[in-house]
Order: sequence, then structure tokens, then C-alpha cells
Amino acid sequence: MIWYPYEQMKTMRQPYKIVDAEGVYLYTEDQKLIDSISSWWCMIHGYKHPELNEAIKSQVDRFSHVMLGGLTHDPVLKLSEKLREWLPGDLDYCFFSDSGSVAVEVALKMALQFNTNRDSSRDTVLALEHAYHGDTFKAMEVGDDEDYHFAFSKKAGVMHIPTEIPALEEAFERYHDKLTCFIVEPLLQGAGGMRMYDISFLQRARKLCDEYDVLLIFDEVATGFGRTGNRFVADLVCPDILVLGKALTGGYIGHAVTVANHKVFDGFYSDDNRHALMHGPTFMGNALACSVALKGIEIFERENYMAKVKKIEEIMRREMEGFWDPRIRQVRVMGGCVCIEVCDPDTLQGFWQFAYERGVFSRPFLNCMYAMVPYIIKEEELVQILDTMKAWYQS
Ligand SMILES: *Cc1c(COP(=O)(O)O)cnc(C)c1O
Repeated sequence: MIWYPYEQMKTMRQPYKIVDAEGVYLYTEDQKLIDSISSWWCMIHGYKHPELNEAIKSQVDRFSHVMLGGLTHDPVLKLSEKLREWLPGDLDYCFFSDSGSVAVEVALKMALQFNTNRDSSRDTVLALEHAYHGDTFKAMEVGDDEDYHFAFSKKAGVMHIPTEIPALEEAFERYHDKLTCFIVEPLLQGAGGMRMYDISFLQRARKLCDEYDVLLIFDEVATGFGRTGNRFVADLVCPDILVLGKALTGGYIGHAVTVANHKVFDGFYSDDNRHALMHGPTFMGNALACSVALKGIEIFERENYMAKVKKIEEIMRREMEGFWDPRIRQVRVMGGCVCIEVCDPDTLQGFWQFAYERGVFSRPFLNCMYAMVPYIIKEEELVQILDTMKAWYQS
């Protein structure tokens, strides 16, 4: 029996069984569906991409995986070199892991141990209201090995603020001597309800972090690789630690990376073994994941994906212009993301089936009907998704 995610198993509807997938399309036995949410936002190149398939196949014939403990290999060396050159600022040090949640844990551990290593007593993480940074919980705390966990023996407290500059300023003024880091999903809070906010908030955050020596962490697991209309939000405001996942491997294999700048890395670089970063996921730097990520970045650049995202945003704005219904609270568009927020989540009951019948796979959550499309989508396919979303309110 499969235990499905985020579902009440007693009342959940039957999931659609996918038998094939290609480009933006998912195929069930009897329907062809445009995937309007890119398999939880990661499948930016579309399914069954010939070059991505080839990248994995040729790596399988060499080796699929070797651990990074005491070993290294070309795919991980090349990917870290590519990221060093591709990412902004001095974000040069790549720590790989198998999922976005774990990569966020690594970022927070980096920030906490960065402070332990310099004998600082700071122990509080600043975060945003409505934030989502993954689903992991307590694995390290239930472990009992001093060698792995000594740097994290203090329990980090977390404080949440809204995405408003006065609240940000107040938090830094009052608590700066307690703050280790400030973690945000920059510009677009995804799973917390597709909430969008202004870059000026992040610019102010960067200044305050510099002023008070607090590390700034961008969780770009969802926003990275063009989703907000920027390649990375980090291109606009550069964090000290950047977390990437989801689209990193084009939706082929779970993998993520926590990228640190020189300041963070230097806080661990010493003659003292106890200053080493005590983390190491079994599948970090997986050779298949690194190979497919490298090829994905090559395609992203070569095919000028940022122009594609700009075009997607234009079409979304054009099609949504003037669209309204009394049940709707707000329609929002940013980059390759559109969200219709409704006042009452019950308004969206049955939309899955409605969309299925019209050849679209959609999965509303909370009070959000949304699309985060693959970047290879054609105009008529995107319009079909948007028409389906709008038609729901006329039905
Ligand atoms: C999806 C997501 C994560 C978690 O990534 P997983 O690979 O599902 O563990 C973390 N942060 C953000 C912003 C996400 O959208």
C-alpha cells in the first residue's frame, strides 16, 4: 500500500495513474493532460527530454553513485565548478544533498555552527510568516552521538515576522545580538500560499544583515532557475547562503545544493577538526543527479530560458487582465507562476476533475488555484491552462 502525501487516506480521491509522459504532457490510459504545475514545480524542461535522458543513460554505464566520503568524481566536480561560475557573488562552495528539505537543514546548521565556531552565543533564527522550507523534523535530535551533534547542542529558537520593512527593522533593532541568520523564500512564498512581495524588503534585509553581522539565507528551492522571472533572486540581492533544489535536476532525480559564500566557508576553515561541518547525506553528489543537473543548466542557457519565462509571464498577464469573480480575493502573476487566490477553499472543490476533463492536470492547495508551468510550454497550451482556470468560475 502506498501512503500518499498530504492526504487523508480515508477520503482521498483516486490518483490518476500515469503511463507515459513527454514534453508538457502526462498520459493516463485514457487522457492526455498538460502538467500545469511541472510535477511540484521541478520539471522545467518537460518530460522525456532527449538530452537529459542521454545524460543519465551515459552516466549509468559508468557508475550511478559513489559516496563523497573519501571519494569524488567528474560529474560532481563539474557541477560544483559550473555553479561557482554561474551563481552570483562569491557563492562558491557547494554542499550537495538529496532533497530541498535536507539542503535547508544544512543551511541552518551552517549558520548555527558558523556562530558556534566563533564562540558566539547567538541562537535564534529569523524567518517569515507563511514560510515553507520543507518537511523534515527531528532526525538529528533523536540521534545520540556527541561527535556528530556537539555543535548544535543548543536549541535554536525561531522568530517569525511578516514581509514588511518596519517589522524587519524592529526585529533587527531588538534582537540582533541573538540572531544567527535570517532565512527567506525570496520574492515568492510558494507552499505558504503563492504570496509575492517586493524586492525592497530583501534589499533592506541585506543591509541590516551586513550592519548586524547576521547571515542571510535564500531558500530558492522553488524560486530558483527562473521561476520569479529572475534567473535567481540572488542575482538581485546576494545572500550568504543559497539553497537550490527542485528544478536543479529538471525533475529527474531528487537532489539539492546548499551554496555558501567565502565568509561562511572561512568560518569552518581551520586547523581544528571540531570546526568541520558535521553533515553528510548518503546520496550527496549522486552522479546521475549531477550529470542531469549539468545538462539541464546547459540547456537553460543555450535555449535562453529567461526569454521563455518572460514570454510566459506576458501571456499570463494578458490572459488574466480584467478577469474577476466575487469568489476571488486576488489574481497574482510573477515570472512563470500564476495564482488565483479565492476567499473560501471550498470554491476549489472539484476543480481537479473539471481540469482533467479539459486536458489539464492541476492540484489546488489551501485557497490557491495556480499554475507553475514547464518553460517549454507553447502559447496555445498555456492559454488552454488559463482558460480552464477561468472557465471554472463560469461553470
Ligand atoms: C519544496 C520546497 C522545499 C523542500 O524540498 P524537498 O525536495 O521537497 O524536500 C524547501 N523549500 C522550499 C521553498 C520549497 O518549495
